[in-house]
Amino acid sequence: MRVLGAPDLRTTLDVGDVDALVERLRPPAARADPFVVVVPAAAAATAARTVSLGRAGAPGAVGVVHASTLPPLALDVVGDLLAGMQDELSAPELLVVTEAVERSVVAGAALSTVTRLAEPTPSMAQHLRSWWPTSRFVVTTHPTPQIAVVVQGEPRGLRLPDTGADLDVWCTAGDEPTRAVAADVVARLGEREPVEVERPDASRVRWATSRCTELVAVPHDLSLVVRTALDAAVECRSCGAPVAWDACRFCHARRPDAIDRIDALTAGDRLDAIDLTDQTLDSTDDRAAAGLPAGAA
Ligand SMILES: [Zn+2]
Repeated sequence: MRVLGAPDLRTTLDVGDVDALVERLRPPAARADPFVVVVPAAAAATAARTVSLGRAGAPGAVGVVHASTLPPLALDVVGDLLAGMQDELSAPELLVVTEAVERSVVAGAALSTVTRLAEPTPSMAQHLRSWWPTSRFVVTTHPTPQIAVVVQGEPRGLRLPDTGADLDVWCTAGDEPTRAVAADVVARLGEREPVEVERPDASRVRWATSRCTELVAVPHDLSLVVRTALDAAVECRSCGAPVAWDACRFCHARRPDAIDRIDALTAGDRLDAIDLTDQTLDSTDDRAAAGLPAGAA
């Protein structure tokens, strides 16, 4: 799991390593700012436990787990890009940006078989096709989960977003037959040559086969994604973190405009609450202390 935030915290830890996290959180300066843990969704429960125990061992520390659905290569690449933004952005800002960057990438793999693939789920026909040794598939998880069968060199029905953005592309080295298919997808994504990297260990597990080439494309200029995401977030009234959800992920306070919506909806309920208060307050002094007009019952 990747820990982002205060300079003392920036590191990659084993997802279950509570001691290492507590050690990192030991200096008071490390606890002054919140941190974000970015972890694959499959390991999120373990990471949440580690963060919870880590915080218990380091009073005052505030940390949030981001469960990423990105496949392994994409998570490595996006994680590196986020790590490069740590000097400019606070941890709460990084959390907002992380989700925005995830929505802006194209991530997937070329595979020779989908028989054991869990997500997205292959159709029966795609299962059967996997039995032909020459079969190839293009699978994407972002921005849309889909499986396209390659027929005569063409991934049939593959939908790639027309982002209009200049994309940087990475793909894994190793499996020749699927690499050619991946190269074709990369060519459809733009002009740039892919950066070839070693296949992450988790890749074989994610795609349920070693006969795969994973790829990810990320907008070359992420500044627009960052700016748009932060502009759309509202400031938490309680802790000041940018909030892009119904409630603040750091202090759990409801989003300010969500509070306004609830206030408007439950005005009647609040009047009921005042009526109830009236029945329990007898003297004028009590009523004044409660901020209620005298003798209005
Ligand atoms: Zn907050």
